Amino acid sequence: MPAGTQKDYYAILGVGRDAKPAEIRKAYRRLARKYHPDVNPGNKTAEEKFKELSQAYEILGDDKKRQVYDQYGFYSDNIPPGGPGPRASTGAGAPGVDFSGFDFSNFDNVDTEPEKHGGFGGGFRDIFSQLFNRSGGREEEEAEGPQKGGDLEHHLHLGFWDAIHGTQVRITIGRQETCPTCKGTGSAGGAPITCAACGGTGKATRQAGTMRFTVTCPQCGGTGRQRRHCQACGGSGFVRKPESFEVRIPPGVDTGSRVRVPGKGNAGVQGGPAGDLYIVTEVEPHPIFERKGDNIYVKVPVTVSEAALGAKVEVPTLVGPSTIKIPPGTQSGQKLRLRGKGAPSLRSDARGDQFVEVQVVVPRVADERTKEILRELARLNPEDPRQELKKYS
Ligand SMILES: [Zn+2]
Ligand SMILES: [Zn+2]
Repeated sequence: MPAGTQKDYYAILGVGRDAKPAEIRKAYRRLARKYHPDVNPGNKTAEEKFKELSQAYEILGDDKKRQVYDQYGFYSDNIPPGGPGPRASTGAGAPGVDFSGFDFSNFDNVDTEPEKHGGFGGGFRDIFSQLFNRSGGREEEEAEGPQKGGDLEHHLHLGFWDAIHGTQVRITIGRQETCPTCKGTGSAGGAPITCAACGGTGKATRQAGTMRFTVTCPQCGGTGRQRRHCQACGGSGFVRKPESFEVRIPPGVDTGSRVRVPGKGNAGVQGGPAGDLYIVTEVEPHPIFERKGDNIYVKVPVTVSEAALGAKVEVPTLVGPSTIKIPPGTQSGQKLRLRGKGAPSLRSDARGDQFVEVQVVVPRVADERTKEILRELARLNPEDPRQELKKYS
């Protein structure tokens, strides 16, 4: 793979180059959740970002691949971690780490006769194991104990009445499940196979300038064997599978409500519990009922006489028609409250209120008789409704 096309996987995951495996995993989970295609349907940018994240995590989330990436700036399956494999190391000048500019004299216990002592001195060995073998030569992933699986989010579009009354819906989501073939171990089982990196010797040779060193094979940690990867999941221990199930949506959800479905997130790690699924609802607006929190707002037109003299009018509510008393002298825009006739609350058994906004409708006057009555009305009520405005003019 040409190095020029390589991306900075650390930057993609937003972690430092010295990030611990748990830190990398955490960063990946957080970002993957944000850019997951299920959460961003139809969003190409998010999809690309998600692919990039998965790619970065595939490398950095794997000790061995990360080691290769750290060393070469890119990853290829053909390069065993820590440098070229046994075949390449037999020839002088094999590609690898160049130590020509490295001052070895700083280390006082350099052993110049490795054959006699069965290897290099401790100082050298430690340095090389750090350089070539960050994982400490462990074959399996770090044992970190059971961990809870990641949470998932699913967006759900609901009709107004379904949101008010609650409903039951069948949804299909792509969950990461424990691989049924390997039961999440990532291993194909059976006897371990000969390590491909060292050919079973447990040792690898490193070329540094004109010197050659023998180090513990970082691929197998010196055992000369490695496990077989599960074919079904490629060794990850997880498979992605669409799953359909019924979800109960409680009465009163609104746009942006999050309904938690326990245990329907991604599968846990090493027997840990599954994460949770969050259903994020988006509710269709209603032609007359406007919702703000648990309260409902309705505009109710009244005649001039009803507003002036007072009246009992019937108004629609979420729970059927209700009669409301318009007090005499009610102004347009005034709000009247109907207690407990709002939307059901998700937090308590109580309901919100309904607010009725009065809208005074002025009649279109055509006949002389009505005009005469209105002129008479003006004469009997000479008060100036613009009195307040005059203070400012
Ligand atoms: Zn598997
Ligand atoms: Zn090996």
